[in-house]
Amino acid sequence: RSTGGLNTVNNDSSSATDSKDLRAKLVLLGDSGVGKSCIVLRFVRGQFDPTSKVTVGASFLSQTLALEDSTIVKFEIWDTAGQERYAALAPLYYRGAAAAIVVYDITSPDSFSKAQYWVKKHGSPGIVMVLVGNKADLHENRSVSSQDAQEYAEKNNMFFIETSAKTADNINQLFEEIAKRLPRPTAS
Ligand code: GDP
Repeated sequence: RSTGGLNTVNNDSSSATDSKDLRAKLVLLGDSGVGKSCIVLRFVRGQFDPTSKVTVGASFLSQTLALEDSTIVKFEIWDTAGQERYAALAPLYYRGAAAAIVVYDITSPDSFSKAQYWVKKHGSPGIVMVLVGNKADLHENRSVSSQDAQEYAEKNNMFFIETSAKTADNINQLFEEIAKRLPRPTAS
């Protein structure tokens, strides 16, 4: 039974129709306003919607991704939906997560510090951990260097990528990289 930490891998692939298919629950973490909902909506609906909060609500969104080796990955993506404020929901939110996407805004050093707090608080060696510097389109206002973030990510065994939900830059790549890192069912 899960204790509510990010320690259980959702290795649900045995119930999928093709043995190569994968299912993975993803959770998003990070400060409010860094663009978590916009990243999800860009990936799932192909849109940039600054009023995303209203559209996402409290549930999760699903999206399927086909990899080059023809593996189909079914993502179940959980946005925070204000769970920072509702601690009682946290165990439900984290249960069975295969990957955690920790997001900051490259123009906000505070959001980068907060990302490190989320990694410390909810990180786990048992799941895929990803650090995302979002709003890369605002590079003129950059105040977190890619190098600092990359170094932090390496130290903490995380994959690092910079994205823009606004321009769609690196959004698909983010989810493809997660898919590649998911544990595969062993061949029988
Ligand atoms: P959340 O609280 O982390 O879910 O953040 P939201 O997804 O609601 O985004 C907060 C605001 O940041 C939105 O109103 C967007 O206008 C803006 N935003 C999100 N992603 C980007 C991005 O990649 N570039 C820019 N320029 N703005 C973004």
